[in-house]
Amino acid sequence: MNHVKHWINGSEVSDTAERQGDIYNPATGHITGKVDFADSARIDAAVKVAAQAFDSWRHSSLTKRVQVLFAFRELVNVNKEKIAALITAEHGKVLSDAAGEVTRGLEVVEFACGIPHLLKGGFSEEVSTGVDVYSIRQPLGPVAIISPFNFPAMVPMWFFPIAIATGNSVIVKPSEKDPSAAMFLAKLWKEAGLPDGVFNVVHGDKEAVDALLVHPGIKAVSFVGSTPIARYVYENGTKAGKRIQALGGAKNHMVVLPDADLELTADSAINAGFGSAGERCMAISVVVAVEPVADELIAKITKRMAGLKTGDGTQGADMGPLVTKVHRDKVASYIEAGMKAGATLVVDGRGVEVAGDGFWLGPTLFDNVTPEMSIYKEEIFGPVLSVIRVKSYDEALNLVNSHMYGNGTAIFTNDGGAARRYQNEVEVGMVGINVPIPVPMAYFSFGGWKNSLFGDSHAHGTEGVQFFTRGKVVTSRWLDPSHGGINLGFPQNS
Ligand code: NAD
Repeated sequence: MNHVKHWINGSEVSDTAERQGDIYNPATGHITGKVDFADSARIDAAVKVAAQAFDSWRHSSLTKRVQVLFAFRELVNVNKEKIAALITAEHGKVLSDAAGEVTRGLEVVEFACGIPHLLKGGFSEEVSTGVDVYSIRQPLGPVAIISPFNFPAMVPMWFFPIAIATGNSVIVKPSEKDPSAAMFLAKLWKEAGLPDGVFNVVHGDKEAVDALLVHPGIKAVSFVGSTPIARYVYENGTKAGKRIQALGGAKNHMVVLPDADLELTADSAINAGFGSAGERCMAISVVVAVEPVADELIAKITKRMAGLKTGDGTQGADMGPLVTKVHRDKVASYIEAGMKAGATLVVDGRGVEVAGDGFWLGPTLFDNVTPEMSIYKEEIFGPVLSVIRVKSYDEALNLVNSHMYGNGTAIFTNDGGAARRYQNEVEVGMVGINVPIPVPMAYFSFGGWKNSLFGDSHAHGTEGVQFFTRGKVVTSRWLDPSHGGINLGFPQNS
């Protein structure tokens, strides 16, 4: 039985916590480990360590920081398969998906390797006679990263490479459902030469999060998770005077115009709807079919769904289990709700047959969904795809813009002008054009609009560098040597 402990000051803590959580293998349904839960005393101890480490790390040279980052990058790359296996064992996603998320995280490390360039400030000479002004960006102090279950490696890696590169110390509070990837990454940081205490991992639930939110030593929090908790973290963190970015839930629409390439569209709907069992914040959850496209598109999607294999992510399946039994049952309850509300159940994933007691639910498709239904309004976060039929582009746009979430969206069309208009008019933070999931690119910033993000700052890219630093402007006057003072051999003014 695996026992996951906190990682503080460069090693696992020796004692065992009073409260613990169970870790499951979702493909077998069995408990495979326990994870310690931090209380406020543990959080306080971790923050003290991080504060002490910050005092020296912030003064480490850019050259030193970049050397550590490059070493970390190499170690993550070499260990990609091992990290992917840890993710699959606790999350359930298929191995190729798990390896893919490590790659996406690595890209942020690579971005952070360029930190000397990214931290360069501006300089204006002679703003007044003999006066220069320049700007510098400095680290904040200990920062916390609180992450969701669905990307146990990638989401923390959206933040910590940049936080560390800019001179902060970090406390990661990963999801208690799949904590092992963060622990593995902690060991790699140590091997890469990061000083002890700069990167710490504490585990836990609400108690740990609440303690981080009010601790005066924590200067900023990067949170990713569901919208109610994101809002809670934003409100309470800002009340405690912290800088907060809190990324929340999603309901991503894929608008299909009648001129779209339907083979590409159907492939995309399958990948984005059912990849990672729909447990992605950029999953496509709603296909908005602009008539007369719906019948043909649904036929193509249904045909492809029949070929999808649901099963153990280590055994070559296309789609793994859901993360917990509770979550599986919640997603299944939406299928019941959709039927009761009058939607047409085209494919029912509840009948999927997979050996063992895993948390299985097969790909599910609804047609004739309407905006009042809970399967449309709420984030399901599972392999349930809904089709809404609309008559025009305007109706489709209005639907997307009226939704409470604004994380990602896609449009499928062969008309560049229509796509251009959509990218301009849609009220969503990330837009795909003939691309279903605009994946995070490290050098751009990632984040949604409306109830999908609380705070002003998106993740990584230049916004990430700004989030983890604060600006200072220096106005400096150095008197010319001709002015007097110690005679350095310059001609003196009389
Ligand atoms: P969650 O909100 O349940 O948990 C996220 C984090 O908050 C975890 O670390 C958890 O321990 C903690 N937490 C849970 N309940 C809490 C409470 N009551 N008080 C304080 N902290 C609490 O989310 P999840 O189920 O782990 O992840 C799935 C959600 O994350 C989905 O809604 C998904 O859309 C969202 N997500 C969003 C993005 C994005 O970029 N916007 C990316 C990934 C996931």
